[in-house]
Amino acid sequence: MNEQRFQQIRMVMVNTTHPGNIGAAARAMKNMCLSELYIVDPKDYPAEKAVWRAAGAVDVLENAKVVSTLDEAIADCGLVVGTSARERRIPWPLVTPRECGERCWAEAGTHPVAIVFGREDRGLTNEELHKCNFHVHIPANPEYSSLNIGAALQVICYEIRMAYFAAKEGKELHFNDWDQPPANSASLENYYEHLQETLEQLKFIDPDHPRQTVTRLRRLFGRIRMDKMELSILRGMLTSIQNHIFHTDKKIKALENKPD
Ligand code: SAH
Repeated sequence: MNEQRFQQIRMVMVNTTHPGNIGAAARAMKNMCLSELYIVDPKDYPAEKAVWRAAGAVDVLENAKVVSTLDEAIADCGLVVGTSARERRIPWPLVTPRECGERCWAEAGTHPVAIVFGREDRGLTNEELHKCNFHVHIPANPEYSSLNIGAALQVICYEIRMAYFAAKEGKELHFNDWDQPPANSASLENYYEHLQETLEQLKFIDPDHPRQTVTRLRRLFGRIRMDKMELSILRGMLTSIQNHIFHTDKKIKALENKPD
């Protein structure tokens, strides 16, 4: 069985306040054979408390990558799942922790996968959640649904381990029957920027009031799980549209400046 696949699955902690929680996360990961930890702009790290809470998983902490933005942490990932302690305003494709484990395990066979965890006090921002293909919610007590981040991370890592065992028994989801790799997070971000710029030039959206159009388009394209080739076709289409706008504008200007 492909045990290296565990290394294709990373846990990403965004703006964690308490270093003890980072240590707890490292321990939870190592218990489930996971090792790739990304720490995005932590409040207080490195710290003794993190080492202390990591116990025998100090190696996971030592190998952890500290980065300054979420984009950096997920740039090369073909699948990004955001964790959330509560329902959000715009519903997003949702998976259960079990489905999350199965999907992450299956997709890690072909590309890097990230699971993103939020701040202790306010979770992930909407903007961060909108960078994810799926959201996962641990169905806890509806009146007290917010788990400690280390505990939440443990549940998610446990489900990945369960998916590994299921795959060993041949009960695996398959994700390697496609001719192209999925578009990764960085190329999707470039695409969304390009799309927004083009829609603004078309005056389809007002840059000062984009409302939720762009968010809804992100959700639409995120659901499709575009591959690299499809994304490059769409980028090409946007460039053609922009060229067309440019030449039309030039013609109009030339006509306007023509002396009568
Ligand atoms: N008050 C915050 C709670 C943040 S808990 C909020 O309402 O969003 C800190 C982090 O732990 C969350 O961002 C998430 O990554 C994880 N977490 C806590 N409870 C969870 C749950 N029930 N399901 C999924 N993730 C959870």
